[in-house]
Amino acid sequence: MLPCTSVIELPYLDMLIELFIAGEDTEGVSPDHTYTPCEIEDGHIGEHANQVGNGESGRASLWVLWTEAVFRFELLPWCEAPSPDRTDVCVLYAGHRLGHSWAVRDPLRDLLEDAARDDMTEQDRE
Ligand SMILES: [Zn+2]
Ligand SMILES: [Zn+2]
Repeated sequence: MLPCTSVIELPYLDMLIELFIAGEDTEGVSPDHTYTPCEIEDGHIGEHANQVGNGESGRASLWVLWTEAVFRFELLPWCEAPSPDRTDVCVLYAGHRLGHSWAVRDPLRDLLEDAARDDMTEQDRE
């Protein structure tokens, strides 16, 4: 199952402020990383969603939810549904639509994330 293709460009300051208010880690948030793709399975209805926090604040994380016209931030608890083989749990928010995160895979996004991770490791070495 592929993820939704909606992407939102978030205002950097808004993101920082919302993360701060939610008690989330703002380190690692850079003006270059305000491009946030929807993490829900393709074909869903309702708001798009991307986890912008890292869940520092406990059993919830900050998400941005958006439609064509508006976006909003909300602290939401995890879904945590286990995969059928019990090796993974869903990292989307509780009450999300369609497939759980472990069933939604985008080969291209995985590739880009791997590349970004490699980049970070490179920078750490310098
Ligand atoms: Zn979406
Ligand atoms: Zn789920």
